[in-house]
Amino acid sequence: MNLHEYQGKEMLNSFGVEIQRGIIAQTPAEAITAAKKLTKDTGTGWHVIKAQIHAGGRGKGGGVKLAKNLDEVSQIAGEIIGMHLVTPQTNAEGKLVSQVLVTEDVYYPGESEPSEFYISVLMNRATGRNMIMYSTEGGMDIEAVAENTPHLIFNEEIDPTMGLLPFQARKIAFNLGLSGKAFKEMTKFVSALYTAYVKSDSSLFEINPVLKTSDDRVIAVDAKVTIDDNALFRHKDFEALRDIREENPIEVEAKAVGLSYVDLDGNVGCMVNGAGLAMATMDLIKQAGGEPANFLDVGGTADAERVEIAFNLILKDPSVKAILVNIFGGIVRCDRVAQGIIDAYKSIGTINIPIIVRLEGTNADIAKKLIDESGLDVHSVIEFQEAADKVQEVLA
Ligand code: GDP
Ligand code: MN
Repeated sequence: MNLHEYQGKEMLNSFGVEIQRGIIAQTPAEAITAAKKLTKDTGTGWHVIKAQIHAGGRGKGGGVKLAKNLDEVSQIAGEIIGMHLVTPQTNAEGKLVSQVLVTEDVYYPGESEPSEFYISVLMNRATGRNMIMYSTEGGMDIEAVAENTPHLIFNEEIDPTMGLLPFQARKIAFNLGLSGKAFKEMTKFVSALYTAYVKSDSSLFEINPVLKTSDDRVIAVDAKVTIDDNALFRHKDFEALRDIREENPIEVEAKAVGLSYVDLDGNVGCMVNGAGLAMATMDLIKQAGGEPANFLDVGGTADAERVEIAFNLILKDPSVKAILVNIFGGIVRCDRVAQGIIDAYKSIGTINIPIIVRLEGTNADIAKKLIDESGLDVHSVIEFQEAADKVQEVLA
């Protein structure tokens, strides 16, 4: 589950991570109220108005702007709220912005220049350990840094039984070129950040930029936080942070009915029982020259009702040009699944795309007979290869 910047920052702050302070606003009037309050609480003269969407690169797309007075706060908030923000991480239509974060300006002039760093915390899958990835080259273009100057990105691996050790936090602050007060602040920052990562069961923190201010404070200016969905049951309070407007509507619907569905870019819809068979089916489709439109595991109890729900979900994706049903009847008998498919087909009415059904296992022959005699436009096959050939044929 991804969080908005403002939610991520609040969560980090609750674990003692210093942040750029801000207040959320849905309208220009709320933005003005927020700006006034921030000036009162922090003494900030200027404010930054930041679009809240689940995508990075907002600055580049015009979703992060500096306001030097209250008129500008209102004007910029008015421009950003309601816009379809296109960034390097969205599609061409962009994402509708329904709220902005009004923040204090933390790039104020002072003793030293402010500097922007990059810090993320994530799992290194090769070693199975968490690591802190960091760079002096923070700001808006970390992808370019990784591409052109990868030696400027450092990794610090963390032993899960020891946690982040003090010498590691100091090493990070040192490699970032800090000294004096900023050095101490950075060690505190990374320690609190790592604690927050572990305690919140997150799978990704990306803080870009982490800012060293002109008076040597170290704060999170941005926050991308992804919480591990499999750990959400341990954090009931996080459920309120979910913003389903940002999620794929078909995936949200599938989740609500307990189906595991992942939207993909292709044109062949798949309905399969079991994750392993679902993966094999996706390979089969690719081999036949198609691209899977989704991953869908209808689970062990593929009864008529679930089959109908699954059909309806797959048909919501307009790019689906054919559906491949690949179900192994073990505990659930193939003839029951076949009946489910026939019932679902009839209750949906017309399905204008070809459906290929492969039912193998208990009562597969009865199932095939049921489908063949149903008079519906459904191709039934038993062999895996036949299914592949049929997919190829209907896509041609
Ligand atoms: P992103 O573009 O989606 O990654 O959004 P960020 O939250 O990282 O903001 C983008 C850029 O806005 C930052 O890299 C900063 O350069 C700038 N920015 C953010 N906060 C402030 C601020 O308080 N003052 C000024 N002057 N610029 C800021
Ligand atoms: Mn950023």
